[in-house]
Order: sequence, then C-alpha cells, then structure tokens
Amino acid sequence: MTTTALAGRRAVVTGAGRGIGAAVARALADAGAAVVLAARTESSIERIAATLRGAGADAVAVPCDVTVEDDVRRLGNEARRRGPVDILVLSAGDAASAPLPKITLGEWNRLMAVNATGTFLCVREFAPAMAERRFGRIVAIASVAGLHGAKYIAHYAAAKHAVVGFTRSIALEYDGKGVTVNALCPGYVETEMTARTLDNVRARTGLGPEDALAAILATVGQSRLVTPAEVAAEVVRLCRPDAGAGTGNAIVLDGGTRPS
Ligand code: NAD
Repeated sequence: MTTTALAGRRAVVTGAGRGIGAAVARALADAGAAVVLAARTESSIERIAATLRGAGADAVAVPCDVTVEDDVRRLGNEARRRGPVDILVLSAGDAASAPLPKITLGEWNRLMAVNATGTFLCVREFAPAMAERRFGRIVAIASVAGLHGAKYIAHYAAAKHAVVGFTRSIALEYDGKGVTVNALCPGYVETEMTARTLDNVRARTGLGPEDALAAILATVGQSRLVTPAEVAAEVVRLCRPDAGAGTGNAIVLDGGTRPS
C-alpha cells in the first residue's frame, strides 16, 4: 500500500539484497521514503533498487560489507551525499547452527562480526548526525534468539543478544534527542535464511519438508512462519515520525503463538 507517511525521509537499509531487508526497502519506499539499499552483492541490491525506481521511488544501491569499517564509512558518505539520513534499518545478518564442540572460532567470529559488529559500525556511522538534526529512527533486526537461548545456536544467540543489549544502550544514550532505537525480534521468517535452516534439518534428520518445518517451528512455539512483509510493516510503524513508538524496545514478532 502506497502512503506518504515517510515522504521527505531518507532511509538506509542494510542486508537489502533479499529477504527481510529487501521487503523493508520496498515498504519504506511505498511509504514515501527515499531508500539507500546496502549489501555486499551489487547486482542484487541494484536489481531491487531498479524495481523501486520503476515504481517511482528514489532508490539507490551502495555495495557495503557491514563488517568492514571503511565500507560503512563509504556507505555513510554516499548516503549523506544525497541528503540527510533519517532512518537506519539493520537487516544484514547471518545464522548458523552447530553443537558447542563444533563451533569453530572462525564461525563464532563471523557471526559476531556480521550481526553485532555490523550493527555497531552502522549505528555509530549514522546516529550522531540524526541526533544533531533531532530526528532519527533506528531499527535493528535482531531475533527471538536475542532474547532467549536455544540449543545448537549459541554463537547466533550470543550475537543477537549483543544486538539487543547494544540497541537498549544506544536508546538510553540518545534518549531525548529525537532518535528512537528499537530491536525487532522475529521468530522464523519465510526467507532464504530459513530455507537454509530447513535444508540442514532435512539433511540431518531425513524429515520431509512439512515435518522439518513443523520441527523448527516447534522449537520456538511458532504456529507459522512470519512473512518478510509483516516484519517490514512493523519497521514502517516504528519509523513513522508520529510513531509514539518509544525507544529501547525489543519487540517480538512471531506470528502469534501456537494454539493450545
Ligand atoms: P537473508 O540471508 O535472506 O538475507 C540477509 C541479507 O544480508 C542478504 O542480503 C545478505 O547479502 C546480507 N548480508 C549478509 N552479510 C552481510 C555483510 N557482511 N554485509 C552486508 N550485507 C550482508 O536473511 P533474512 O532472513 O532476510 O535475515 C535478515 C536479518 O533478520 C538477519 O539479521 C537475521 O539474523 C534476522 N532474522 C532472520 C530470521 C529468519 O527466520 N529468516 C529470524 C529472525 C531474525
């Protein structure tokens, strides 16, 4: 649905090449925002930016690895060259699963880097100018794994707990400066990331597609997959100037709980 709720606002969305980030970029553009799409693969973000431009939006693609400080600085410069940035959505991330003895240091560091360090570098790049202009909306896509522990995802859960702790802390630091900082904590969402999880479960257990899906949903008490559009709609709500959305919240999006 096209609205003008975010007309005149400029948004940067990381991880915008697919999945939740791509849906968020679309929803922000539909709400009238100009959008800067960032991810590592230029072809995927450019494809989405071109579609948004085709629908009349102001959308550009800026390649960026959020774990690389110089890339994030370049993203900041490229975005600001077009105008002040009002909205930052952090959707770049990755997940993995393994029992503790099989979590390598490399894999631990990789998940920390893309989920936690990437969030830190991007917020540090954009938040101070938002505070100077007395307006900003920052939304980190964390996870229910950022609020609760779960078996075989200790590295992912630790990284997402870091995102939630960082979000709550920056919210306090920027309180009263017109900048809200919130985390969205979805359960399983219908994206490639979840498709990879399902492939792993099927390879490990021999379950069919429906049983594998039921098995992963049961681990978090979800009755169905959340859609990227649902996450994107919540992001738009948090970004509205009149949001009254509060700050420092970690908001669970799990599609409702399993009927008993
Ligand atoms: P996805 O794998 O479909 O997309 C992730 C995007 O991030 C891709 O565009 C990828 O290229 C980009 N990306 C990865 N590493 C990057 C890096 N270093 N620099 C820049 N971009 C990078 O994943 P998704 O399902 O859309 O997940 C988006 C976010 O939501 C992630 O942070 C994920 O942890 C979180 N999340 C996902 C689910 C789920 O079930 N899919 C649930 C809860 C939270």
